[in-house]
Amino acid sequence: SSFWSHVEMGPPDAILGITEAYKRDTDPKKVNLGVGAYRDDNGKPYVLSCVRKADQRLIEKQFDKEYLPISGTAEFCERSIKLALGDNSQVVASGSNATVQGISGTGSLRIGAAFLNSFFPGNKVVYLPIPSWGNHTPIFKHAGLDVKSYKFYDPKTCGFDFAGAMDDIAKIPERSIILLHACAHNPTGVDPNPQQWAEMSALIKKKNLFPYMDMAYQGFASGDIDKDAAAVRMFINDGHEIALAQSFAKNMGLYGERAGAFTIVTKSKDEAAKVLSQIKILIRPMYSNPPLHGARIVNEILGDKELRAEWLKEVKGMADRIISVRTKLRDNLKKEGSSRNWQHITDQIGMFCFTGMNPQHVERLTKEFHIYLTKDGRISMAGVTSKNVEYLAHAMHQVTK
Ligand code: PMP
Repeated sequence: SSFWSHVEMGPPDAILGITEAYKRDTDPKKVNLGVGAYRDDNGKPYVLSCVRKADQRLIEKQFDKEYLPISGTAEFCERSIKLALGDNSQVVASGSNATVQGISGTGSLRIGAAFLNSFFPGNKVVYLPIPSWGNHTPIFKHAGLDVKSYKFYDPKTCGFDFAGAMDDIAKIPERSIILLHACAHNPTGVDPNPQQWAEMSALIKKKNLFPYMDMAYQGFASGDIDKDAAAVRMFINDGHEIALAQSFAKNMGLYGERAGAFTIVTKSKDEAAKVLSQIKILIRPMYSNPPLHGARIVNEILGDKELRAEWLKEVKGMADRIISVRTKLRDNLKKEGSSRNWQHITDQIGMFCFTGMNPQHVERLTKEFHIYLTKDGRISMAGVTSKNVEYLAHAMHQVTK
């Protein structure tokens, strides 16, 4: 017998499985609303023009392919954290941040999880919102942390359950870890408003919880990178020591380049240096050092006035297209004669819309209308275009009326 005869077939990835089924469907009307990647109004993948230009410049610069340091390029790290905290950040000026280049958002989250598992002095339990991104639980468990939850989404309003969240956060044991989606919550598209963020920050401080902020969509939510970073900056102003995972997959369209960063904000430069030294010791046996190219693109764009200005326009362009198809979807549902309240479609923000459709609705959408999405009723708004929005609205009305 083989060494591996005991290995059983694992289940396919919930989201990638949908894309497989979509590819097999031969109906010309088919629509894929499963993928979490931006598409243009023709449903095609989109490479930002600033990225094309940065690529060109990199070729001209004829860089070598030597290893990066374990923590990545220092320049990339500094530009990333300044993007999150702002150019005038006190934290960056005083050097009290420990920042490393990670393997996009996922890898950055995973490094942070490893660091917390080794060094967090409190309860090694991460509290996740219900629901959260499907990969959060396995990332934290894989690193050895326990995972629990707090209320976040209210199915009745398809909005934020502020009272429920505050109630649950108040019950979390002191000195635990709480994960927060910095903006454009995935999968619900529901974010706290500034007042609610302020109250959550105060409660989290009072309870002495450690905030781990996942910012995978800076700029992608509102179209404004500063507005989308407001919660992160507020928490720092309120005196929290935070962990922060950043991704450039969505806001620069660099999905497969795997560019991201992980930061711990400490109380001093000396502390930051010690924390950084330990993060490097954790990275070394995992993957030794991060990939070159994606970080070089980000560095080129953030460090050049012209490219940066172009990027800001292009992020806003992506966010605006999504905001506009939200309105179109809602208008078309009304035109179809739907008597349901679809206001949450336009209230929600970022790449996803949590429609409130149940698994039966979703099954009918797929079987009868060739529209593919996750069973939880989540639509990737990036897959909705001016060409398929009427068909989508028609189908949604047919299965929900
Ligand atoms: N966090 C959240 C909430 C996300 O939605 C994503 C992307 N789906 C990520 C992190 C990380 O993605 P990536 O590893 O591609 O940067």
